[in-house]
Amino acid sequence: PASRLPAVGTTIFTVMSALASETGAVNLGQGFPDFDGDPALMQAVKDALDAGHNQYPPMAGLPALREAVAAKIATLYGTAYDPGSEITITAGATQAILTAVLALTQPGDEVIVLEPAYDSYGPSIEMAGARTVRVPLTPGTFRPDFERIAAAITPRTRALIVNTPHNPSGTVWTEAEMAQLAALLRDTPIVLIADEVYEHMAYDGVAHQSVARHPELAARSVLISSFGKTYHVTGWKVAYAAAPAALMAEFRKVHQFNVFTVNTPMQHALARYMADPRPYLDLAGFYQRKRDRFRAGLAGTALRLLPCEGTYFQSVDYSGLPGPIAALDENAFCRWLTTEVGVAAIPLSAFYQDGFNQQIARLCFAKRDETLDRALARLAERL
Ligand code: PMP
Ligand code: GLN
Repeated sequence: PASRLPAVGTTIFTVMSALASETGAVNLGQGFPDFDGDPALMQAVKDALDAGHNQYPPMAGLPALREAVAAKIATLYGTAYDPGSEITITAGATQAILTAVLALTQPGDEVIVLEPAYDSYGPSIEMAGARTVRVPLTPGTFRPDFERIAAAITPRTRALIVNTPHNPSGTVWTEAEMAQLAALLRDTPIVLIADEVYEHMAYDGVAHQSVARHPELAARSVLISSFGKTYHVTGWKVAYAAAPAALMAEFRKVHQFNVFTVNTPMQHALARYMADPRPYLDLAGFYQRKRDRFRAGLAGTALRLLPCEGTYFQSVDYSGLPGPIAALDENAFCRWLTTEVGVAAIPLSAFYQDGFNQQIARLCFAKRDETLDRALARLAERL
């Protein structure tokens, strides 16, 4: 039979994690913590299981969790979403992104994606029968280039996906950039799919610019965030989408037939745990310390550090390394780094449709300090 996704293989994250475990490399490739979530959150799950919260929750998610999400968004960013009609709990941000694209595009529509882009966007758009229009972020700085985005808009453009804080580059969009985005989309029917899974990881006092801070953008956006990132539980696959009622009604039509609903005990646990804002408010400080420790260690190598304003990824340019290693393409470099140095990384080219190479690798610092130090010792010895 013909393939639904002919150009798609196994994701780079799976490939590099497998190579890391085969070779015993420190896995700084795939983005996930090597430490556990808060014991209080784990206890809340156990309590939910024991309390018999094990049957289907409502289709859109547990009301108490939707209320907690609405309260968080309103407090942090100022937009009030109605938990009844404007928030849906999803099976990870991945499902929320696919659901938003399926719900809001028709076959033949165009969806603009800014490259480098998270690898699920393109296939989600393709599965919807829509067309991905790729616009590069500014080379070198990875900041949005509004002239190029404007030039990519056509009468068929139905959606634009924006990811801030940005995986893989670590940039965080500024208030001025959000204002430019609002101006660009004004008087168009374009829906914004705002991937904000790293919303609580913006550093150095920089404020994350959620679309929910910008009423004009919020009115045309599906805002997506993930509990997996915020609470160190990527394996739970629980996230949420928030959007104005008319958009959310369409979103839910698709949601009810691709998962119907999301596991109950985790939703109870998250609803209880969210009552305390400190875990998400403290997250930026927690990861900023790791970023600083990691960058300080990398400063002793010949790798050039790219800025990291947010996310738990640090990208490095290896073109200045002495010898033939600097000339390897990113895939070959990341394989060499994994098998020969013992540190797994992700090639930035994996975030480009055409595999564009710029001698940059992405390293994840969501790791215990001793893991980071072990990786740094290996890197410092060879690089
Ligand atoms: N968007 C981005 C930018 C991500 O980095 C990730 C996770 N790596 C996701 C979406 C998917 O999140 P989830 O694990 O909740 O599906
Ligand atoms: N989002 C994670 C990353 O960028 C990986 C998620 C996945 O494995 N699909 O590393």
